[in-house]
Amino acid sequence: MGSRHPAAYRGRFAPSPSGPLHFGSLVAAVASFADARQHGGEWLVRIEDVDQQRAVPGADRQILSTLDAFGLHWDGAVLYQSQRTECYEAALAQLRRAGRCYPCACTRREIAASGPAGPEGPIYSGRCRNGLPAGRDPRSERLRVDPIAIEVEDRIQGPVRQCLATEVGDFVLRRADGFHAYQLAVVVDDAAQQINQIVRGADLLSSTPRQVYLQRLLGLEQPRYAHVPLALDATGRKLSKTLASAPVDPRDPIAGLARAWRFLGQAPLPEPPADVSVFWQQAIPRWRIDAVPRAGRRIDADDTGSGDSARSQPSSNP
Ligand code: GLU
Repeated sequence: MGSRHPAAYRGRFAPSPSGPLHFGSLVAAVASFADARQHGGEWLVRIEDVDQQRAVPGADRQILSTLDAFGLHWDGAVLYQSQRTECYEAALAQLRRAGRCYPCACTRREIAASGPAGPEGPIYSGRCRNGLPAGRDPRSERLRVDPIAIEVEDRIQGPVRQCLATEVGDFVLRRADGFHAYQLAVVVDDAAQQINQIVRGADLLSSTPRQVYLQRLLGLEQPRYAHVPLALDATGRKLSKTLASAPVDPRDPIAGLARAWRFLGQAPLPEPPADVSVFWQQAIPRWRIDAVPRAGRRIDADDTGSGDSARSQPSSNP
């Protein structure tokens, strides 16, 4: 029994500002907020605009005002990835000094043609690992991965195991367009914001071993992870902001919250809440992460999450 108290809970929601908040993001926000508040923890918001080409002007403000309308009030200042380039560069420099990085000349097309498909696209063949091919210029910068399995115990999905070398390959830390990769930025920012509990969508489950690996290489604390099921559209694809699918209606937050709550497998609240603060007063003490289903479910876009239209289907998660 150590004398140190465990660090207080610090969670976060980290939307990419590529469009208005959609139902799938609301589900992730509701789960991470409820889990943080039930633990008496802090809940931070970070706008993940590291990929400035995909950021839609004004989408950040729209997302923040929607969170506000849903009673998802965050602690502290909102962090913007677009203002943190120096921190990502410092982490990259640390990895370079450790001999972990190498320049890569391969184009997307070459990579697709050279490697088998992994959980997130083609597995990088390692073509540039031992030096650039003659006459080729560097485009991106990659991390050299070891042939070891990374194991993570997810609070919802259970044990996750991935061998980066065979399932992902050496992955990109700085992209051909010069932006730092999401995998690097998210790890640097979670550490900088002292996030120790991450609750987010299951589409990021297969990124988690890469993030844990980077945390180890950079000497950072590993947060705990919980990946909530994805809301899928009628064709079985993830509802994503880029598809502009089913933005949630900030004028009717109670309905959206109730749908997200039900989607997360939570028991109905005792009485219909009069407003969002009553919803959260009732919801926070009743949150049970062990009631959250593992598998993604289909949701009809015009009826995001009503009890009748949500049908179970096997998880598409790795
Ligand atoms: N920015 C990512 C998204 O909007 C989430 C990243 C994360 O939660 O780690 O899908």
